[in-house]
Amino acid sequence: MEKYATVMGVKFPKMTLDRTIEVLTDVIEEKRSELFHVITVNPEIVIACQKDTSLRSIVDEAGLITADGIGIVMVSRLRGGNLPERVTGYDTLLRLLDSGNQKRWSFYFLGADPITNEKVCEVIRKKYPDLSILGRHHGFFKQTEEDKIIEEIGDLKPDILVVALGAPFAERWIHNNKSKLNAKIAIGVGGSLDVIAGKVKETPESWKRLNLEWLFRLIQQPSRWKRQLILPKFAIRALTFREK
Ligand code: UDP
Repeated sequence: MEKYATVMGVKFPKMTLDRTIEVLTDVIEEKRSELFHVITVNPEIVIACQKDTSLRSIVDEAGLITADGIGIVMVSRLRGGNLPERVTGYDTLLRLLDSGNQKRWSFYFLGADPITNEKVCEVIRKKYPDLSILGRHHGFFKQTEEDKIIEEIGDLKPDILVVALGAPFAERWIHNNKSKLNAKIAIGVGGSLDVIAGKVKETPESWKRLNLEWLFRLIQQPSRWKRQLILPKFAIRALTFREK
């Protein structure tokens, strides 16, 4: 069976969340010298990749990309690519925290507003007492502070660098600083820290099961409606796209 499903030219490995975590566990346990960049690719990124060649090469060069959103999974199924399930940044992060707690991995949390960044580390420390938080920094830093943050992360050498700076800025940031960050894995997680810290409500399981996460997020944060207009546009373009 084909190992990848292609959606608008972006090649997604056919991997479940469980398999994704196995692969990432191997990455942490192996002694690699290069940072392993994980990108959870949502429809906005797939659309942006059509015109933005620099973003496209960041996605192509990533260690692993996952299908972030039911839209991508559905399009793959309608076009015979059959991705097994959604693998979102939030779900991946929760599983990494869980494994990290069991295996005593180390983390650095970069991003979200200053209060949320502090709060999320407090919540994670309580819930996952056996993982270590080597450092943290909020995501509203000035250009002039950036080098110091990169240097700090590089000195601390976390197993996992969690970056919540918004997509695709986080993905570009990780890619551009790849050689200086000294982390084994870096992953952009969108608004996940806001959810773990309790600033934004988590989508209830029942809504997730019905694949209505997008609707729940829209109700919670109505200001996202403009961004969500991309979803029908993505569906139409992706279903009519001529894959090479
Ligand atoms: N954020 C940040 N710095 C910025 C802009 C955004 O740290 O300059 C954070 C923001 O506080 C939030 C996350 O990045 O925690 C982005 O959340 P969003 O739900 O918009 O994620 P997306 O789906 O855009 O990746």
